[in-house]
Amino acid sequence: MSGGALQRRELIVAGVQRLGAYHLLRVADGGPEPLAGQFAMLAAVEGWGGGQDERPLLSRALSIARRADGHSLFLLEDVGPGTARLCAMRPGKRVFSLGPLGKGFTAPAEGRRPILVGGGVGIAPLAILQDQLPGTATALLGFRGSAHAEQGSSTPTTTASTCRAGSANSDSSISDGFSV
Ligand SMILES: Cc1cc2nc3c(=O)[nH]c(=O)nc-3n(C[C@H](O)[C@H](O)[C@H](O)COP(=O)(O)OP(=O)(O)OC[C@H]3O[C@@H](n4cnc5c(N)ncnc54)[C@H](O)[C@@H]3O)c2cc1C
Repeated sequence: MSGGALQRRELIVAGVQRLGAYHLLRVADGGPEPLAGQFAMLAAVEGWGGGQDERPLLSRALSIARRADGHSLFLLEDVGPGTARLCAMRPGKRVFSLGPLGKGFTAPAEGRRPILVGGGVGIAPLAILQDQLPGTATALLGFRGSAHAEQGSSTPTTTASTCRAGSANSDSSISDGFSV
């Protein structure tokens, strides 16, 4: 975890971009610089706890996909009330964020060649990891279906060329994408 006492902060949404099966949420964030592999607990300021059975009640954990130009980026898949609410955010809306949390990834030993491996929304922290590694690294990406692979591999997170359902077989690099 980064140094200093962490507090829940209120952040302004800059935009949500639809990327096939995924959504890319951008929030203005001048908070502590995250390490690759860290996450934040997010909740919408309005309309949280207002769904069926008052769900979602608790904030949801989301990997920090990138920090660039004062913005944090999150890659989401709408799988339930929390992610649905966050995917429906619009510019100017507010989210509560607690983070960065978690220990982050261990840097590769000097002289070792890193290979970044992830699948589905699990590709999110590979982008920030690539940002923090010197040079570019090979990425192996897996998706559960061709539709997810097509969109996932063309998200601003990655420049994957080929991805097949259920396997991580794409030799690709994580691009500098995510322009904010
Ligand atoms: C450290 C960390 C990082 C994460 N990073 C990301 C990220 O970058 N992007 C992202 O999209 N997600 C990420 N997640 C996952 C995300 O936090 C969860 O999927 C979250 O629960 C989604 O909330 P929800 O309210 O949308 O869905 P929920 O209602 O919590 O449901 C989540 C999934 O569980 C299933 N489910 C719910 N209840 C049950 C049950 N009783 N029995 C069986 N299945 C059930 C749902 O069908 C759905 O597929 C991360 C999680 C962790 C812990």
